[in-house]
Amino acid sequence: MAGRYRSVKGTRDLVWPETALWNHVEETARRVFAGYGYGEIRTPLLEPTELFARSVGEETDIVGKEMYTFADRKGRSLTLRPESTAAVARAFIERGLESRGLPAKLFYIGPHFRYERPQRGRYRQFSQIGAELIGDPGPASDVELVLMLVRFLEALAFDELTVLLNTVGDTESRAAYRDALRAFLLPKAGELSADSRRRLETNPLRVLDSKDPGDRELLEGAPELAASLSTAAGEHFAAVRAGLEACGVAHRVEPRLVRGLDYYALTVFEITAGGLGAQDAIVGGGRYDGLLAALGGPDLPGIGFAIGEDRLVEATAEKVGWREPPLWPAVHVVGVDIAPIESLRLAEELRQRGVAATSELAPRSVKAALKGAAREGRSRVVLLGPDELAAGTVTIKDLETGDQETLPRSEAIERLAGGGEA
Ligand code: AMP
Repeated sequence: MAGRYRSVKGTRDLVWPETALWNHVEETARRVFAGYGYGEIRTPLLEPTELFARSVGEETDIVGKEMYTFADRKGRSLTLRPESTAAVARAFIERGLESRGLPAKLFYIGPHFRYERPQRGRYRQFSQIGAELIGDPGPASDVELVLMLVRFLEALAFDELTVLLNTVGDTESRAAYRDALRAFLLPKAGELSADSRRRLETNPLRVLDSKDPGDRELLEGAPELAASLSTAAGEHFAAVRAGLEACGVAHRVEPRLVRGLDYYALTVFEITAGGLGAQDAIVGGGRYDGLLAALGGPDLPGIGFAIGEDRLVEATAEKVGWREPPLWPAVHVVGVDIAPIESLRLAEELRQRGVAATSELAPRSVKAALKGAAREGRSRVVLLGPDELAAGTVTIKDLETGDQETLPRSEAIERLAGGGEA
């Protein structure tokens, strides 16, 4: 049956056992991040549109084409968050979180929204796991954050991890680079795509992000930012590389890596791994030293990353050959010719003793109940009939061996709770 309604294009339902894998990934993130002193932050899904326009950048695909923006009933322009760094920065400023001591270490897990063409691994509602370290200029912070990310992916069983690293320089370096890039591209301006031609004027660095094949060809031989790097930016980059090396983290400098958002400065990175799709990074991050000040907050530096959880989950499933955990509790109470509520009361007694258990909620034959229990992979069934009820006993049947034993009710409960031999 198709039903009358369908989920919105680009969104999907996650149903157990898929959700068990999602929880595994999220629990791993929480455990690893806690080890580095990160606390969780939950920001609203709705933010003022201006926040993203200002921070992510008007010329980015996200702001230009992909935001779910609408006017609320009072005509305020609101946007479903397309990413969270700006939202975390907004919250940090609004809550005065610097008063809790710096650096602030915050992580988030949750849905984000972008109006993109849905395809495998790309959705309009997708989830990101991210972390932000605010208030320390690095480079040790850069190293620690990348290290935490690597440890998280390792904890999920990914190996052959390579950190792709680049620097987009400080303000001074970028100004010099912008000029160099513009000078290189201006003679070819007529051949550039319309988007890139406009960006050449507004924000030439954006042209490097273009996915247009014609643009990509024209970009060959373009000057690299390394040549325009200021001394301070160069030293920062060298220190991050040396730090990663000292911690045994393999990395490769990727001069073309610029990352799409306007607020990045200095260190930017992506990570690839055996088993993670090569063409599209699963995680990206970088330093955003000017962002807080640009949003009217204290002039504090920051660095963070965002992992695409949807793809991470898919890749994890393939990588570890994920087997779904058993859904049904090992113990099931089957009433024989008694009211289902009597079986329910015994199951409830077991649950109160910490034993996960279910019971037959509607009467059916014992044969059918036992067959169902076996199919569900239960290990023990507790049989309860009128005689047992009268005598205050129950019968435990081991579904693996077929053995069964009748015991006083309280003793049976003790035994199932692990207090006696089974
Ligand atoms: P970004 O915030 O664009 O740097 O994205 C960080 C990560 O989020 C990407 O590497 C993707 O894995 C993931 N991501 C971004 N957009 C989507 C989407 N529409 N669907 C699924 N994952 C996405």
